[in-house]
Amino acid sequence: MKPRLFTPGPTPVPEETLLELAKPVTYHRSAEAKAILAEVSEDLKYVFQTSQPVYTLTCSGTGGMEAAVSNALAVGEKAILCTAGRWGERWRGVLKAFSADIVAVEVPYGKAVTPEMLETALKANPDAKAVFTTLSETSTGVGHDLEAFGKIVAGTDALLAVDGISGLGAMECRTDAWNLDLVVTGSQKALMMPPGLAFICASAKAWKKIDATPVRNFYFDLRRYRKSLLESDTPFTPGNTLIKAQRASLKRIRAEGIENLWARHTRIAGATRAAVEAMGLKVFAERPNSALTVIAVPAGIDGSSTLKALEKKYGYKLADGQDAMKGQIWRLSHMGYTDAFEVLGAVSALELVLIESGFKLEPGAGVSAFQKAYATSK
Ligand SMILES: *Cc1c(COP(=O)(O)O)cnc(C)c1O
Repeated sequence: MKPRLFTPGPTPVPEETLLELAKPVTYHRSAEAKAILAEVSEDLKYVFQTSQPVYTLTCSGTGGMEAAVSNALAVGEKAILCTAGRWGERWRGVLKAFSADIVAVEVPYGKAVTPEMLETALKANPDAKAVFTTLSETSTGVGHDLEAFGKIVAGTDALLAVDGISGLGAMECRTDAWNLDLVVTGSQKALMMPPGLAFICASAKAWKKIDATPVRNFYFDLRRYRKSLLESDTPFTPGNTLIKAQRASLKRIRAEGIENLWARHTRIAGATRAAVEAMGLKVFAERPNSALTVIAVPAGIDGSSTLKALEKKYGYKLADGQDAMKGQIWRLSHMGYTDAFEVLGAVSALELVLIESGFKLEPGAGVSAFQKAYATSK
């Protein structure tokens, strides 16, 4: 059977990128390695939609989040945390580890923090140094209105720090135009790569705060990365094989064009939601994003064993809910190197396992709705 990966990280990797990973390892301080890092850094600026340098860290996405917190906040400084799920909670964990004074703006899983909620929190906490939030809350499928968040935070002294892991490269996100001060992502979500790299950029406003904040990290000290990147280099041994492979995936993204890529995700996400509803199921997120579709498990169906059957019988690997959400939702990724026909296959396989487990469903209902929605959108 052919294994098909539909988890919201890791995601499928293009063939030309896999071939890069099969090549002999090269020396990371060579002229060639520097040229590759320079090229990757330029292409990342395009993906982030920023004119600021984007730094490559050798770690998973959370390392980038740790870099954001540890560089931008001094001990005890106040941070507003806008959290709508497990990844908002990851920010909380990092903030706690670095002794931030956390003011949480929380919503139940499936809902989104609204711009009004953020505005109220900022007014009540004028001494907040930063706001931490999530572009795509991968645990629930919710997307936040970061354009609106950016407008609100830009009028204050606070920084807006965004976990763009899974969202960046799948949904519209304009770092500079939306006034996002610290943006982090990881390689294994929408950037069509295996896990292992994190990327971060900082606005001029963020750099001002970073430069005024006492250093309390070592590996993640962004000042080191800023200095090294001026010479197309990194302060420590980078995952240079991964960086080379990332270059191939970024070339693919550049060739498609970022706006076309956002439109592709929007169209597939819309068709997937139409399929879910036509199958008599519900989309879990109140404000769904285009990186993944999260489906509420219907009453009478065992969510976790359905996913196991889907993988074992048909090769489709979707993700279960995390922690307390286990068995409650199914997470279907359509980000990165995944096209409409692959998602259509996943919808079809989900229909089959549901029918086999006694769920009342007209075969092809979801597939037909997907095609209709796809045919009538662009
Ligand atoms: C996957 C994910 C993370 C976790 O990143 P790691 O690479 O596992 O450290 C954080 N935030 C979001 C929104 C994610 O989707």
